[in-house]
Amino acid sequence: MTDTDSPPAGERVAVLLPLPLAGPYDYLVPPDLDVAAGDVVVVPFGRTTSLGVAWGKAEGAVDAAKLKPIAGKVDCPPLPEESRRFVDRIADYTVSPPGAVVRMCLSVSAALEPPAPRVAYRRGPVTPERLTPARRRVLDLAGEGPVRSIADLAEGAGVGTGVVRGLIEAGALAAVMLPAYDAPAMPDWQRAGPNLNEDQAAAAAVLRGAVEAGNFATQVLEGVTGAGKTEVYFEAIAACLAAGRQALVMLPEIALSAQWLSRFEVRFGARPLEWHSDLKPGERRRNWRQIASGEAHVVVGARSALFLPYPKLGLIVVDEEHDGSYKQDDGIRYQARDMAVLRGSIGGFPVILSSATPSLETRANVERGRYTRVVLANRHGSAVLPRMRAIDMRRDGPSRGHWLSPILTAAVQETLGRKEQALLFLNRRGYAPLTLCGACGHRLQCPNCSTWLVEHRLAGRLRCHHCGYEARLPNECPACGAEGRLKPCGPGIERLVEEATTLFPEARIAAFASDLLAGPKQAQAMVEKVLAGEVDLLIGTQILAKGHHFPMLTLVGVVDADLGLGGGDLRAAERTYQLLSQVAGRAGRAEHKGQVMLQTHMPEAPVLQALVSGDVESFLESELEARAMAGMPPYGRLAALIVSGHDLERVMETARTLARSAPQGPDVEVWGPAAAPLSMLRGRHRQRFLMKAGRGARVSDLLRSWVGGVKVRGDTRIEIDVDPYSFL
Ligand code: ADP
Ligand code: ZN
Repeated sequence: MTDTDSPPAGERVAVLLPLPLAGPYDYLVPPDLDVAAGDVVVVPFGRTTSLGVAWGKAEGAVDAAKLKPIAGKVDCPPLPEESRRFVDRIADYTVSPPGAVVRMCLSVSAALEPPAPRVAYRRGPVTPERLTPARRRVLDLAGEGPVRSIADLAEGAGVGTGVVRGLIEAGALAAVMLPAYDAPAMPDWQRAGPNLNEDQAAAAAVLRGAVEAGNFATQVLEGVTGAGKTEVYFEAIAACLAAGRQALVMLPEIALSAQWLSRFEVRFGARPLEWHSDLKPGERRRNWRQIASGEAHVVVGARSALFLPYPKLGLIVVDEEHDGSYKQDDGIRYQARDMAVLRGSIGGFPVILSSATPSLETRANVERGRYTRVVLANRHGSAVLPRMRAIDMRRDGPSRGHWLSPILTAAVQETLGRKEQALLFLNRRGYAPLTLCGACGHRLQCPNCSTWLVEHRLAGRLRCHHCGYEARLPNECPACGAEGRLKPCGPGIERLVEEATTLFPEARIAAFASDLLAGPKQAQAMVEKVLAGEVDLLIGTQILAKGHHFPMLTLVGVVDADLGLGGGDLRAAERTYQLLSQVAGRAGRAEHKGQVMLQTHMPEAPVLQALVSGDVESFLESELEARAMAGMPPYGRLAALIVSGHDLERVMETARTLARSAPQGPDVEVWGPAAAPLSMLRGRHRQRFLMKAGRGARVSDLLRSWVGGVKVRGDTRIEIDVDPYSFL
């Protein structure tokens, strides 16, 4: 069945329900209904009804007499064929029920019903005999300019809505039906962009060419921060709009994207549509419909924007493609960057992966010739990359209980003295990551998780960063009862603010962390204060690392460069390199030269050596080599199974069953079961398996047959994580 030919009445059709079922269910098409693949329908399901999407021809295995008819069709744009294939492929790859994936496409159920049209009024045929001055003002207003709503007429004429309603009753105002929403403005792709430098122009030509060719291709746009990658991929968007197709730009930290949005508006004279979790319900509904109808031209969003039902997508840009937040780590565990490439291959259009520090996965794909690399070698204009130096905290550290070394402190003082801005970076929220009893050594732990509670002093709370548990900081130790002996250990950014306030009493300090900012609006207000020069010293977590361009910022101090290196995670060094490069990129973005200081207890670590010497190429090469030797991604494949549940015995039993049926083969290794590093999360015990396989292995099939036969009891769950990024 295709989009155009609908089955004759009485025929059956497979309908995919947005539920975690094994696959689509068959239904009968009633005689009075025309159902084509992709149509959103309502079907009886159990004792109630459910939404569903007509998925294609039914298998026909079930006796027709047992099938129920489709109850009706929903008046919304159908789910395009490309989206349906995308759903099937993601479900297959991630070993998830397709219904759970299609639920992400239909995530805004309110948007499925057509919105009510708006009613506006113009001057009607009748002129009432008795015309008060108030009535006259309303009629004068209605006689000129655009049609207006009752509220607008009342406000414009300075009268109550009763006056307007009276005129409607009298026939002096006539109703006009308007579409529910104004169509989004068309970004003006013909508008001239900035004059690109030679490198940029060459890169833009390659990307434009790929869009114009209209074939699937993956382009890696690589260039240091400030090289102009955004300006360059804007050219590809212009080409996509010129071809009459939709473009999607994915950003990792959409809440802090205001600067990006205003740059887009400057370039194209219109705003793109946004898609992220901070939208109000009405905005979500409108944006979903306008994307599904094809009226939206450019969409900027978080990873969930991939699942929207674009009817004519022609380009995806994944900005900061290396960013870890592209990996979704609960529910359906997918890597949005990789799925964007898949979406491009299904839709037959190019995908641009932009980054200053491409992931090793992406580098390997360039080596294999699957992706094309497009390089911007230098920063735009006179800006140069900042110098980096390591501060050896073993030798040059501060006294106990302090976190800023004398060298960094002096550098901050000098910078502020020159009326320039400095940034202290510490990727840790709260005041202290650990609270310890000085009398008995007890550590305050989350009751639901195997983690320490983090003190948030400004909020006066202890918090678990994993499950959201909160409590007041007690005065007595819960273990030994000693009073006033609980003490904070280690710094979070609140504690750093405290130290900086003592060290730099004159400085105007601003703290940036997700829990300290009430939302995107407040974050943007803070960014504007920095731009206006109303802040001298910025102290923040990784939300400050991304995307911002602060011309007066010339010093970046990384308070603990070792923070990401512990734990022995596969990507620890790579991630440290990416994060620190990104933070460093905040310094000296304009004509002022920048410097970066990395406080570390292990200056000999290869990643720190690489950053300081600037020879990142050989660092990345040796990382890749080590991964190749070990058969690790991107040269081998990993998948994790996480067995969890409230009942430890049942969890262990399931883990043992899985262990007995673990896949075997020359190309496959399975480790586990072993207690997860987070052995308890939200009250659930957790056991992990890790499977390593060769690149050619059919990982999803192996997992499906491994897990498929295993029955779980009670609330025990087996979660599958293909290509895991977290090993907790
Ligand atoms: P990246 O995305 O690579 O970090 P951006 O595109 O953000 O770099 O560019 C960095 C800064 O330089 C921005 O303020 C941008 O407007 C400016 N810029 C880049 N290229 C040009 C150009 N050709 N003409 C004018 N300004 C440019
Ligand atoms: Zn917890």
